[in-house]
Amino acid sequence: MDEKKIPSMEPDRQYYFMNCCKELILQRSREAGRTLTYNVQTFGCQMNAHDSEKLKGILDEIGYEETESENADFVICNTCTVRENANQKLYGHLGHIKNIKSKRKNMIVCLCGCMMQEPHVIKTIKEKYRYVDIVFGTHNIYKLAELIYRYLSSGNMVVEVLEKSDNAVEALPQKRKYRFKSGVNIMYGCNNFCTYCIVPYVRGREKSREPQEILDEIRCKIASGVKEVMLLGQNVNSYGKKFDYSDGKIAELTENQNVRFPELLNQVCKIDGLERVRFMTSHPKDLSDELISTMANNPKICKHLHLPVQSGSTDILQKMNRRYTKEQYLALVDKIREAMPDISLTTDIMVGFPGETEEDFMHTMDIVERVGYDQVFTFIYSKRTNTPAAGMDNQVPEEIVKDRFSRLLELVNKKSNERISRFSGMVKDVLVEEINHQDQAYITGRTEENVTVHFPGDANLIGQIVPVRLDSCMGFYYLGEMMR
Ligand code: SF4
Repeated sequence: MDEKKIPSMEPDRQYYFMNCCKELILQRSREAGRTLTYNVQTFGCQMNAHDSEKLKGILDEIGYEETESENADFVICNTCTVRENANQKLYGHLGHIKNIKSKRKNMIVCLCGCMMQEPHVIKTIKEKYRYVDIVFGTHNIYKLAELIYRYLSSGNMVVEVLEKSDNAVEALPQKRKYRFKSGVNIMYGCNNFCTYCIVPYVRGREKSREPQEILDEIRCKIASGVKEVMLLGQNVNSYGKKFDYSDGKIAELTENQNVRFPELLNQVCKIDGLERVRFMTSHPKDLSDELISTMANNPKICKHLHLPVQSGSTDILQKMNRRYTKEQYLALVDKIREAMPDISLTTDIMVGFPGETEEDFMHTMDIVERVGYDQVFTFIYSKRTNTPAAGMDNQVPEEIVKDRFSRLLELVNKKSNERISRFSGMVKDVLVEEINHQDQAYITGRTEENVTVHFPGDANLIGQIVPVRLDSCMGFYYLGEMMR
């Protein structure tokens, strides 16, 4: 390969390597007498799901064909490491992939995502999983074609895990799960360092994309059929903040009057053809009054807010380094409800954080009782190596955690059912997503409050926003009737 011909700038460099890969993959397809296949396995959050759409876009572009089966020519696991058992699950899964590879000539096994950002994991992969061919992290997802080319040229294991992202390359092929809706990254990384969380160590420091780049990406997506976008970031409320990381500390630069999140939302909503805007995730400590009024005054912004509280106890919130109190969180919820009474509020709650007493837990139950969430994602605290909480005393005994977890679930289900029933009999606009899995005569979609609705209809309506009367509340979803 003539190194001089390789573009240094992105995304041209990746398009160059995609072309190089195309030739090699075509050659392999001819030898195999069929199109080569790929399988992408995604673990974890919406950020990972969106990254997997980028991986699929590149693999399609270089000549592979997607398959649901992991018995494929190219298998890639986009990993998560938010809980300890996620790592164990992947190691177990690799054993299974090894068996497939032993029977499949030229199969390529690739690992990427958050788990690969942990140095001890890379050491383990290199020592114990020699049949893995390509390994990369969260900061160079866009370089898949270049890494595949390096592997195909050398035949040696390729490992490239970057400490931080030097490039936010988004202008590459993406394969969306849904034609009519798409995630859009607005920022990367997290500076909050909640004491139980591994994300800041694997996704790096906060970095916001340029507003124009985001607006251009959304315009392109609307031109290809998108009606709804989900603006993605670990903490979208700190979008536009500039930080100085030079001396190893995190110093926010205040003199730069950048576009902040509410203003970005306003600019996004002005784009013609876009019908709905969603965003996640919000950190309560950064949620501004300006954002609340922007949401309330803009009909395109879906009235659903995911606002992780994690615990109801101010003592525990302090140990978690969440930087808000129970009272501040409840006051914020009151402000939000005052501006948008019917808004759907969802949250994340963790049980069993080190030092959690019965009294602390009752504060959590009190928050659930008083807020009345539409949905709560509940988790049991998982000790993560290298996080401050892992070294804390008073790890809560398992049987106590399990007892609290089941009591919490009971209350959460009761309150969510009560709360979600407020839409009974109302006519709501529903974005139709798919044919119902249980009954082909029904189609399924979501209201702007992210409530799932099943109603009679056919595939022609997929991707359309239609008025539906919500007749029967079935707990976490509705059965309804389309209004003609
Ligand atoms: S805000 Fe806290 S919990 Fe969320 S990603 Fe950042 S460190 Fe993790």
